[in-house]
Formats: sequence, structure tokens, C-alpha cells
Amino acid sequence: MLEEADLFRSVREHGHAHLFQITDMAKSLHDAWESCVTSAITAFPEQEDRAVATCPANWVELTGGGEIQRLAETPDRMQRKVSRCVNRLVAAEYAKKVSSATHYGAVTQAQRYRDAGDAHCGDVYTAAPWLQTGELDISSYALKKTLITRFALDVPHGMRAPRRCSCGKCIQLPDAPWSADDVEIAQEAERMWLRHRYTCPSASGLRIATHDNIARVWYAMLEAAGFQELAYEPRRWDAEAKSDEAEHRRPDILAFNPCTFGRWVMDVSMAWAAVGIGADCRLAAKAREAYKQRAYKASMARVKTRHESGEELAQEGWLDDRFVPLGFEVGGAWGPSAVHAFHEVLEVYAQTNMVDIEHHSVISFATHWRERVAMAITRGAAAVVARVAPLDGEAASVVGTADTSHEHNPDAR
Ligand SMILES: [Zn+2]
Repeated sequence: MLEEADLFRSVREHGHAHLFQITDMAKSLHDAWESCVTSAITAFPEQEDRAVATCPANWVELTGGGEIQRLAETPDRMQRKVSRCVNRLVAAEYAKKVSSATHYGAVTQAQRYRDAGDAHCGDVYTAAPWLQTGELDISSYALKKTLITRFALDVPHGMRAPRRCSCGKCIQLPDAPWSADDVEIAQEAERMWLRHRYTCPSASGLRIATHDNIARVWYAMLEAAGFQELAYEPRRWDAEAKSDEAEHRRPDILAFNPCTFGRWVMDVSMAWAAVGIGADCRLAAKAREAYKQRAYKASMARVKTRHESGEELAQEGWLDDRFVPLGFEVGGAWGPSAVHAFHEVLEVYAQTNMVDIEHHSVISFATHWRERVAMAITRGAAAVVARVAPLDGEAASVVGTADTSHEHNPDAR
């Protein structure tokens, strides 16, 4: 078959294809192969890039520049590699389209598209298969609506939010009859209207629930990694502060790091809005972390003094308390402190299991928990924008405390 397909290639090159009897199957194979080669070379035009073993177009080099007779020399999971080449072309095409668009809201759309390529923003998409039940579940309606909101796409008729929100606010549309410009203005208004839920006062409960779910995922991850003495929303931490005191803080998680002998005082914070128009992805998460760092300064100092004075019995081997803010964005991005902490969690996991940090078990641990965090964020966003039943089942979670922390209310925004 390969020979026949190759014969087809050579005779066609010389314009003699009509002189030979070649089966349709061989012709199809030839055409499919040629199209794969073209996609791979277009996606990665530089031979230098293709020569790298991890390049999805590396198989072109392995087959001597895409010779069909050497098809057997293609690597495992060939279909995946071809898909990645094609995806790259489709993405490049789309990026070009997005950045040259001039309609209302085009700048936002281009930015959301760029943001989606940032670290962690794609974690949610690898959480496949989208099981119908369990922690990674999300309905396709909610998912579509969430992605339309995330990418600021045109809102299909059936996915429009109610014209009047439960908070009393209404969508602002141009007066009829609409001109062509008005149609664009209305589309932009629909897009903004979906995003209104991110900041709507009547969705604050759902935003708090999202925050709590992210904290629960981190708690479960820390426990699985080998952290010790975990506490969820510890009531007694910084008990010295008066409860009505503005300085009083109740962290989400306390966890003892068995590798560094330090205790982590952790607080999750979600950014539902970008810090400003045109601001880069991750900046909002970083700003949340910086805000938390300042907010905990007095509490951290007070707790440290109590330990140093011996008023509170420190855990055996305990060295230091460290405040670890965990900032996330509704688009999936993580703040720098969260990224750093996650890396340390992987180190704890590796040491606990006596494997190297590069070991495949560490990599699959990392992938799993990245997906879990991403799903907690996306399910929360889905509950907020799609007004679906929120986060069912997760309330009965990995940790006992069901009450919502009073402290997150001001931050839920
Ligand atoms: Zn509202």
C-alpha cells in the first residue's frame, strides 16, 4: 500500500497518473499523508524547530522530510502530534482574525483570547473527560455560557441573562429601531451584561462558595501531598484579636510543611474583575495576594509574638509561620505566591513519596490538582454567570466545617 501510494506521488509529479492503475485507498492514503506533512511544515516552518524531539512536527524529520515510504518510522501517538500541528494553525488563524477585528468589544475579545494562553488558564480544558458526576462535572450549558463570558463572545439568544437582574439593575440597550451600529452596541451590551454577574451584589453568596471550594481543594491537595496538622478556618488562630477588630483575620488553612518545618498560614482570594482595562492576565491575582499580605501583617506579627514569648505552645520542630496568600482569577490565572506555593507542595509530595520531583507520579499529581483548582474556579464562574445550582455536593466536602467564614465577605466583591 505504501509503495502504491508512493508510486502515485511520483507518477503524479510527472503528470503520468492516468497511465497507472492505482487503488482509491492508496490515493486517499497519499492525500492524507501529504496534507499532514503540509500542516506540520506550515505550523513549524523552520527545520531547526522541527528537529527538536518534543516538537509536534518532529516526525517530519524522522521520516526524511515527510517521505510516505518511511511512514512506519513515525512515533507513537502520531495522531496527537498531527492534531497539535493543525491546532497551532487554527489558533494562529484565529489570533490573526481576533487582533484585526474592529467591532465594538474587539479589543476585549483579543485580550481574553491572549489571556487564555497564559499559565494555568488552560488547566480546565485538560480536565477531560467531562464526567457527568463528581468533582470535575459541569453541564454543557453552563460551560458554554461560562466560556462565552470568559472570551467575551457574542451571546446567543437562548443564553441571554434576564433583562432585569435580581439586584435591580437592568441591561442598557439602544432605543429601537436599531441601526447597524446599534446592533453592535447591543451585542457588546449583552456581553457586558453576562459579566455583570461577576460583580453583582446578589451573586456574592456564589462567589464566596467559589472561594470556599478553592480553599477546600487546596486543603485536600496539601493533605494528599503530606502536609501535617492541617486546620480549615481555624477559629483559635490569632484569638487574641478582638472579634470586632478590623485587624482580625481568620485564615482559610493552616498546614505544617514537613520539609521546611514551617507552618503555612494560607488565605485564598479570588479576583472576579481585572485590575483595569488592558491589564495583563495574572495582575489581578497578584494584586489580591499583595492585598492579603498587607491585611495579615498585624495578625502575623501578633501570633509570632505569642509563639516567641512561649504563651502559645509551638508544635515540635516548628520553625516559623509564613503567610501564604493564594490569588486566583476567574479566567484561571494564579498569582505568583500561589504558583510558588504549588511548587513547594510538589516538593513535599516528592519527598514524602521518596521520588524525584521529575518523577511521573509527581507530574500526574500536579496535573490532577491543577485541574481540580481550575474546575473549582470554572464551576464557580458557571454558577455565577449561568445561574445554575451551585457546586452541588461539594458542600459536604473534604473538611468538616460547613459554616462560611465571615471574613471573606468583604473580599468576595
Ligand atoms: Zn445584578
